[in-house]
Amino acid sequence: MQRSWFLVVTIVLTTLATLFPAGIGVFMAQLEANRREADQLSVFADAAVKRAESVMTQALSALQDMEALKDEPCSPGNLVELRRITYTYSYIQDAGVYRAGKRLCSALLGPIQAGQLVLPPPDWRTPDGLDFWFDQLSPFNSPRRVMLIGRNGNNVGLDPQVFVDVVDRESRMLAVVQTEAGRIFAATQGASLARLQRAYAEHAYGATGGEALQEDDASIVLRRSRTMPLAVVVLAPNAALLANWKALLIGGLVVGLAAGVPLGILVWRRATRRFSLEGELRGAVRRHEMAVHYQPIVSLTDNHWVGVEALVRWRRHGRLVRPNLFIPMAENAGLIQQITDQVLEIVLAEVGSLLRRYPSFYVSINVGVEDLKSRRFLGVLTSRLRNTGISPGQIRIEATERGFLEPDVARETIQAFRDAGHPVYIDDFGTGYSSLSYLQSFKVDALKIDKSFVDTIGQEAASSTVAPHIIAMARSLGLQVVAEGIEDEAQADFLREQGVDFGQGWLFGRPIPAVELAQLMGRATPQAVT
Ligand code: C2E
Ligand code: MG
Ligand code: MG
Repeated sequence: MQRSWFLVVTIVLTTLATLFPAGIGVFMAQLEANRREADQLSVFADAAVKRAESVMTQALSALQDMEALKDEPCSPGNLVELRRITYTYSYIQDAGVYRAGKRLCSALLGPIQAGQLVLPPPDWRTPDGLDFWFDQLSPFNSPRRVMLIGRNGNNVGLDPQVFVDVVDRESRMLAVVQTEAGRIFAATQGASLARLQRAYAEHAYGATGGEALQEDDASIVLRRSRTMPLAVVVLAPNAALLANWKALLIGGLVVGLAAGVPLGILVWRRATRRFSLEGELRGAVRRHEMAVHYQPIVSLTDNHWVGVEALVRWRRHGRLVRPNLFIPMAENAGLIQQITDQVLEIVLAEVGSLLRRYPSFYVSINVGVEDLKSRRFLGVLTSRLRNTGISPGQIRIEATERGFLEPDVARETIQAFRDAGHPVYIDDFGTGYSSLSYLQSFKVDALKIDKSFVDTIGQEAASSTVAPHIIAMARSLGLQVVAEGIEDEAQADFLREQGVDFGQGWLFGRPIPAVELAQLMGRATPQAVT
């Protein structure tokens, strides 16, 4: 990956890792704010219903008391009783008697002259004979309105405000509805009656008094009394919610960031460590810090060493790093060609004299994907071998199927190596996606059967039948076969029986430094290295 791209991706990932928990925090905060708001609304609506019920209960009790009075209506004794009742019930302002559209007397007004106070027909009469005058002028010319509730010729007067007199720190609108009449008869100061009436009408059928309904700028709750034809409508403007929500938002953000920042740092560290490892590798290549170990390849017929495979190591902080850990990175970072060149340099410097001494002995070199895309490495190889006394056949090329992604170019490069006298091996054969199809079109000298197939020899696994097939096929194509990763005699015997020519593995020898290789081979005769 390009350095700048890598940086962009890292920054994006880090930002996401940081913001994701914060986003969740904010989302949870919003849910919590909504839940709290709904809870508070619900509690408030319950209190308002209770209040309206208790006012109505007093009105009904007062009427009942009045119906039980013995004295002649409006007689002095009756007026005394009416005053007592008014005094007894705190919400009741007046108690009086009416007949056929006329108020005859009341506790406050005493006997009323005929025609002095008209009483229009009631605004609503309930099925059980309760009369409602929702909105009457005060008899004292005060701007306050009076609500009258009457039954059997007795009425009580109340200030509608007592129905909505509930303590509320938020600026919520509250209205009380007589549900049979469908009419609001009490509302808090400044409440928009039209809006509340519309909200009631819209929600009256669906809502049974449950959850809050969201409108653009407010949430609305409708709560019905269970015992009386009363309901309350509460409208909470979202401004109140927003105040609540800001505090929670900050909380959510803090919690989210507390979780997100360490996560972000973790992602950043992970990414940049890879990045910095790549930088380190770059430096190591620049400073030529690669080393090479050599693993013997033997003839399975007589265990002679026919050659070695050069396996690169990275000398890092005094330790040798195995290629599996850095070759893929080197491929990505565009360092593989330099590594291949350095391996060749080291091989010629370390085992050049061995190769001259044993002309049939060879070193197999692994090349990278990029090395198969051009003849560049062949050029290097040819010029480095010139006048060294080492024949081209002594330097062999191992290419993995990953290098065949651009088959036409790879085919040409491979042919060029072969034309120049360097045998070419397909490494890790069988692990690619279409090994067989390559064999059709790539002309090579040998296959290296991957260790994973050798491992299954003698086991019940389905793949244990693969090795014999590969071997048979290679033979029919006239290719040599090298089996990799042979660790025990049973595997060696089996491969021998199958006619495999060469083997490599811990059974015969582990990868060793050139000095050890020279010591081991120094004891052997030039013809037979065992
Ligand atoms: P490879 O080319 O298939 O090399 C064989 C690997 O198998 C080596 O691992 C070797 O140490 C290991 N091996 C051999 N016999 C046995 C055995 O009996 N048992 C077990 N468990 N392992 C065995 P190594 O040295 O770690 O190399 C790993 C891979 O790295 C190589 O696989 C090769 O693909 C790549 N590589 C090594 N050197 C180079 C190089 O110079 N250039 C490039 N491009 N790739 C290299
Ligand atoms: Mg190899
Ligand atoms: Mg291999």
